[in-house]
Amino acid sequence: MNDHVRLGRRGLLGGLLGAGLAVGLGGLPAYATTTAGTAGAGAPPLASLPLDRVQLLESRFLANMRRTTAYLRVVDLDRLLHTFRLTVGLPSTAQPCGGWEAPNVQLRGHTTGHLLSGLALAAANTGDAELAAKGARLVAALAECQVAAAKTGSTPGYLSAFPETAFDDIEAGKNVWAPYYTIHKIMAGLLDQHVLLGNAQALTVLLGMVDWVDTRTSRLSREALQKVLHTEFGGMNEVLANLWFVTRDERHLELAARFDHDEIFGPLAERRNTLAGRHANTDIAKVVGAAAQWEATGEERYRTIATYFWDQVVQHHTYVIGGNSNAEFFGPPGQIVSQLGENTCENCNSYNMLKLTRQLFRNDPDRAAYMDYYEWTLLNQMLGEQDPDSAHGFVTYYTGLSNSASRQGKGGLVSDPGTYSSDYDNFSCDHGTALETQVKFADSVYFTRGDVLWVNLFVPSELDWREQGLRLRMQTDYPYDPTVRLTVDRGGDAEIRVRVPGWVERTGQPAKLRVNGRSVGVVCRPGAYVAVRRTWAAGDIVELSLPMATVWRPAPDNPAVHALTYGPLVLAGRYGDTPPATLPTIEPSSLTRVAGTADFTVLADGRRVRLSPFLDVHHEHYNVYWAVRPGRPAPKLVARYAFDDSAGLVDSTGRWADAALAGGASFVGRDGGGAVALDGQGGHVVLPAGLPTNLTELTVSVWTRLESVANSARVFDLGSNAQTYMFLTSRTGRGTARFAMKLGGMETEDFVDADRPLPTGVWTHVAVTVAPGVARLYLDGEQVGINEQMVMSPLLLGATQQNFLGRSQNVKHPWLHGAVGDFRLYGVALSAGDVAALHAGTFHRYE
Ligand SMILES: [Zn+2]
Repeated sequence: MNDHVRLGRRGLLGGLLGAGLAVGLGGLPAYATTTAGTAGAGAPPLASLPLDRVQLLESRFLANMRRTTAYLRVVDLDRLLHTFRLTVGLPSTAQPCGGWEAPNVQLRGHTTGHLLSGLALAAANTGDAELAAKGARLVAALAECQVAAAKTGSTPGYLSAFPETAFDDIEAGKNVWAPYYTIHKIMAGLLDQHVLLGNAQALTVLLGMVDWVDTRTSRLSREALQKVLHTEFGGMNEVLANLWFVTRDERHLELAARFDHDEIFGPLAERRNTLAGRHANTDIAKVVGAAAQWEATGEERYRTIATYFWDQVVQHHTYVIGGNSNAEFFGPPGQIVSQLGENTCENCNSYNMLKLTRQLFRNDPDRAAYMDYYEWTLLNQMLGEQDPDSAHGFVTYYTGLSNSASRQGKGGLVSDPGTYSSDYDNFSCDHGTALETQVKFADSVYFTRGDVLWVNLFVPSELDWREQGLRLRMQTDYPYDPTVRLTVDRGGDAEIRVRVPGWVERTGQPAKLRVNGRSVGVVCRPGAYVAVRRTWAAGDIVELSLPMATVWRPAPDNPAVHALTYGPLVLAGRYGDTPPATLPTIEPSSLTRVAGTADFTVLADGRRVRLSPFLDVHHEHYNVYWAVRPGRPAPKLVARYAFDDSAGLVDSTGRWADAALAGGASFVGRDGGGAVALDGQGGHVVLPAGLPTNLTELTVSVWTRLESVANSARVFDLGSNAQTYMFLTSRTGRGTARFAMKLGGMETEDFVDADRPLPTGVWTHVAVTVAPGVARLYLDGEQVGINEQMVMSPLLLGATQQNFLGRSQNVKHPWLHGAVGDFRLYGVALSAGDVAALHAGTFHRYE
C-alpha cells in the first residue's frame, strides 16, 4: 500500500462522474442501501456503510485481502481482453490465457466480470487510485468491444468474449456452457464499477447490455425462455434487480423476472425441497436474485423462495464448515458423512450463499442466525480457500472434506481437486469469485439503521460512522482469542448492537459484555444481538468475552461421526503427505490443548495427530470428520426379518419398523421358514432406515435362492447412496459373489470375493462378518473369502437411508431375480462355528 496514492471518495469520483446519471453511493453489494426498496413493510432494510468508512486493521482478513489485491494489481488486462477483442475484430497481440479463459473455452470472459467487481470493491474500500484507474481502463476497453461488436453484426449492446452465436445455439436447444452466466458476471462487474466508484461509462455499457438482453429475450415465448433457463445463467435476475435500485426503471424489474426459473422457483414457493440432484451453484445464484427481487418488489413469493431455500440449504445440505454440494450437486437432505469427497463444498456456492445471507439479514436483522452462518462460513471456508503462502492469493476450487482431501499447489490447473489456482492457467469460477470474496470483508462487519449500529463480525477495523458522529475501533485476535474490544475514538449518541454468536450456546458457558470494565446488566443471549444505548464518549470501551471451548458435533446422518470445533473454528487433523485410508477413529478423551495456541493433539487410529483451525491447514492432507466409538455396546442381534408365516414383515427384536414389500415382491414358502419372491423386474424389500447405525462390527445372515444370476444384482444393499453402502452381489464382472463396503470419498471400496458366484435354483445361506480390519464371506456355512485389510468400518455407514433386499443403490444395476429369506443383522462378528450353526438352523443365541 505504501507506494499507492490513497484518495478520498470525493477526489476519486471527481473525474469519473458522468452527467445526468443516478449514482448510488451506498456501500455495496447491497444496492438498496441508500434508497431502500419496498420489501420491508415496516422498518427499511439495514444499510451497509460506504466501503471507505470501514478500514481493516492487521488481521487474517486484511492479509488475505492484500494478497488478492496484489493479484488485482498485476493481472494483465490485455491478456484478459484478448478474446473479447478478437471476437469483435479488434487487434490483439496479447498472450492468450489458459484455463477457463482459454480461447476455445465457452466460459471465457467470466473472469473479466469478477475482475471489474474485485477492482471496484478493493478500490472503494482502500481508496487506492491505481486500482480505480485500472478498473476504468477495463471499462473503457470493454466499451470499445461493445461498439465494435455492433459494427460486426452483433445485436446492439452485445458484449462478450465469445460470439453471439452461442445464444442462437442455446435458444435452438444445443449444448452450450452457460453463456448467460458469463454475461451476468460482466454486467455485475459493470454495476459494481458504477455504484462503488461512480464510473459513468460502466453504467452506459451496462445499459447497452440490458438492451441487448431485452432484445434477445423479448422475442422468445415464455416456454422457450424457460428452456433457455435450463442452462446455468448465474444471477441475471439479481443484477437486473440490483440495477433497478440505481435506475428505478421498472423495465429492469420486468427483465429480471424473465429469468425467474419456474423449475426451481415453483417448488420453493410451495416450500418443497426438490434440491437433491440439482447443480448447487446454478440454483443458489438464482435465489440470490430472488432475494434482490424481494427487496425491490416487496413480493412475498420471492421472500418465500429465498428464505425457504436458505433454511433448507443451511439446515439440511450444509457441511460443518458452512459449504454445500458434493461434486457440485446437492444430495438428499441430511446426507453429509455419506456424501464426503474431495470435491465437496464448491467455494462459489458459499460466495453466493453469503450474498444471499447478507441480503436476507439486512431485511430481517432480528434473525442473528443469518450472521452466525455468515461468520461461520467466512471463517471455516472462505478465509481458508486462499493459500496463505501465495503472494497472489490463489484459491482452491472445492474445499474437499473426505479423508483423502488436501489443499496443495499442483500447478494451478482447474482439473485437480485441492489444487490452488494460478496467475493465468486456471481462471475457474472459484478463482473468479475469490477476486470478490477476499476483498470485501469490510462490507458486512457493520450495518446501520437510524442511530443503531449492528456489529456483526469480529474483524479488526476502524469505523467512521459520521452520520452519528461516531468513530469506533475494533481490536481482537478473534477467532483465536475470545475477547473483542470496541474502543470509541469519537463519541456520539447511538445504540450499539453486538452479535453474541450462536455457537456460544454449545460451550455451556456465558458470554459477557462490559462497558468500561463494568457489567451493564444486559444478558448476552447466544444467537442474538446484545444492545447498549448511550451517549458514547471518546475512550469508552465495549468488551465482549466469548467462552471458547471444544465441542464435538455429530453428523446428521451418522451419530458415530463427529467434527470437532473450538469456539467458531472447525479443527482439522494434519496429515502431511499421508492421508488416512478412511475417516480415522478418534479417542475424544485423549484431546490435549497445545498451550498458547488454538491447536490440539488427539489419538486417532492409535497415533497422535495434530489438530489446527481448518483455515490454517494448507499444503497438506487433512481430515475433518472423525469416527467415535459409541459409549454403549450394540445389541447382539440388531434386527431380524424372518418373512415367515408368524413374523411376516415384522422385526422380531421389536426395535425396528416393519419391512415393506415393493415393486411387486410377494411372500413365498421356504423349507424351515419364510421368504420373499423377487421377480427381477423391480420387486424388492425395503428395510427401515438406520439399521446398521453405531455398529463397530457386524454379521449379516440371509437365505437366498436365485432364478438367474445377473452381474451387480444385489442380495442386500444397505446404504445412503451410490457412494456409501454395504452390499452383497450374486456376481461381479470377475465371475464371483462379492461383499463390499464403502464410504463416500474413499478411493476404492473394501470387498471380499467368494470363490464362485451364488448358485441358481437352490436355497443358499449367505453370511458376512465384519470385525475391525477383517471381513469374511460364507456360503452354506463354509468360509469362501476373506479380506484382512479392511479399512472401512461399519461405524462409518451411519444411519443409512436406503436399505434394500434385491435392489442396488445404483439405479443402473439389475434387480435380483429369485427369493430372499430370514434376514438377520447382528452387532457382532460371529465366529465360523456360529455361522455354521446359522446355516444348520441351530443358532439361537441372542434371539
Ligand atoms: Zn465455482
